[in-house]
Amino acid sequence: MGEKPKRLHIGLTGSILIALGLGLLCGVIFHYLVPAGTVRDDVFVNGIFYVVGQGFIRLMQMLVVPLVFCSIVCGASSIGDTKTLGTIGLKTLAFYLCTTALAVTVALSIGNLINPGRGVDMSSMVASDTSTLSGSANTDVSFTDTLLNIIPKNPIQALASGDMLAIIFFALFVGIILSTMGRKVEVVHRFFEQFNDIMMKMTSMVMYVAPIGVFCLLARTFANIGFDAFLPMVKYMLGVLLALAVQCLVVYMVLLTVFARINPMKFLKKFVSVMMFAFSTATSNATIPLNIETLEKKMGVDRRISSFTIPLGATINMDGTSIMQGVAVVFTAQLFGVQLGPVEYATVIATATLASIGTAGVPSVGLITLSMVFNSVGLPLEGIALIMGIDRILDMTRTAVNITGDAVCTTIVAKRAGRMDTDVFNDPDAGRELDDVKAA
Ligand code: ASP
Repeated sequence: MGEKPKRLHIGLTGSILIALGLGLLCGVIFHYLVPAGTVRDDVFVNGIFYVVGQGFIRLMQMLVVPLVFCSIVCGASSIGDTKTLGTIGLKTLAFYLCTTALAVTVALSIGNLINPGRGVDMSSMVASDTSTLSGSANTDVSFTDTLLNIIPKNPIQALASGDMLAIIFFALFVGIILSTMGRKVEVVHRFFEQFNDIMMKMTSMVMYVAPIGVFCLLARTFANIGFDAFLPMVKYMLGVLLALAVQCLVVYMVLLTVFARINPMKFLKKFVSVMMFAFSTATSNATIPLNIETLEKKMGVDRRISSFTIPLGATINMDGTSIMQGVAVVFTAQLFGVQLGPVEYATVIATATLASIGTAGVPSVGLITLSMVFNSVGLPLEGIALIMGIDRILDMTRTAVNITGDAVCTTIVAKRAGRMDTDVFNDPDAGRELDDVKAA
């Protein structure tokens, strides 16, 4: 029997990249070579490209509220395990939240340094209706009211109007109570877990049509403004990569030195294979086993700690994702001429930190929860159109940072609690077998 001809397998990442290139090319051709008129403007740019592109954005918006709600309820319900670990669990939680808030701050600073969206005015392209998700998007509200609005007067109304901070508050409450009530509320617990699975499935289905959405969104953007859109996109990408590098190579290294008193370069060297795994899968969840194994075998971190803190981190601690969101906020605000003041920046830090809790550790979810960060300060969702095309590469990179953040916090907490064997950490050959397994 003759050999079957091999089919070229492109995969989602490849398809999105191809769609990105084709959308860009098509838009540029429309902008420079096709004369303006009904066919170009009404049929294509403001017809097909607009409807399909916006349809895709709406599909993503549709996921936000149920996805974030379920993910937080499920994430918070696992916090109940802190009882068994006592203060270690709470310390880890505090570290996770602080490093994420720090990550957003780094991102906002680098965004304002690089100014990725300066020089291009896209305000005329605002079309999406953000009102359905803008419960907390009133930029005139004072800081005290913004804080107060986190507590919903009516949780159902908060869910219906997409008031994200209030939703997160309520979801955290439900999750924590679920965990404390244990078996008595098993059915409800299972319901949320299964609903969460449904949302995950729906997300991957929506992502399946992402190449078409990306093509139309980019074609329309470039048809409208030509090559002017190119530079901001590249600057945004570099901004995110730079902020991720700062978080990983400066913030984490300083934290390890100060709080764990270990050699951060040694840590990085031993951990790089886990980062590469996360990079290639863009999935924190899939990296959990390797992360725990590496921390134990190569660093000497007590498994009883990491087996709790690493899965928790993969669910609620997404420093890399919140970095992307911080730079995206600055980028979009500049593109669309939206002024952000200290109150808005504080809101972004709070929302992105909480969005990190609601971001599941699977590919592309950070892009979905980004719309809730945008809505919290009234930014148009059109900004996501440009970002989406190049998101896959950034997703891979930020996932590597996400799981590094989990490992750094775990190491610090373990070391301070006397649950880390420094002899293992200092042994350059410790855990070699892990690399052999991977290479085999
Ligand atoms: N892919 C990321 C992770 O799994 C989540 C995201 O930012 O989309 O950690």
